[in-house]
Amino acid sequence: MMMTKQREMAVHPIGLSRLGDDSIEFSWSDGRIDQWTAMELRKACPCATCREKKRGEEQKLTMPGSAMLLPVLSRAEAAPLRIEAMDPVGGYAYRVRFSDGHASGIYPFDLLRK
Ligand SMILES: [Zn+2]
Repeated sequence: MMMTKQREMAVHPIGLSRLGDDSIEFSWSDGRIDQWTAMELRKACPCATCREKKRGEEQKLTMPGSAMLLPVLSRAEAAPLRIEAMDPVGGYAYRVRFSDGHASGIYPFDLLRK
């Protein structure tokens, strides 16, 4: 029998598995599967600090001669990035903790769907 009172439900993850050291795979309730590397997730970090940093980098790119400037990587950034933990947040997102210590990004499910 069909459920008549079923509300429209947002797509949510039904499975989360590690692929090796630095990748993660989401299985979604609609059957879709997305794979992310730690680096991809880190770059997509939606926290205020990362958004600010990204904006700064985009501005730099528009300045002439900026291509000659090489970014200086800290030791933590130079090491292979790993995902330390994925903590569910409020049933709509995950907080991702990275091996570089960054953990302020809250990734809503729709961001995690590529
Ligand atoms: Zn961030």
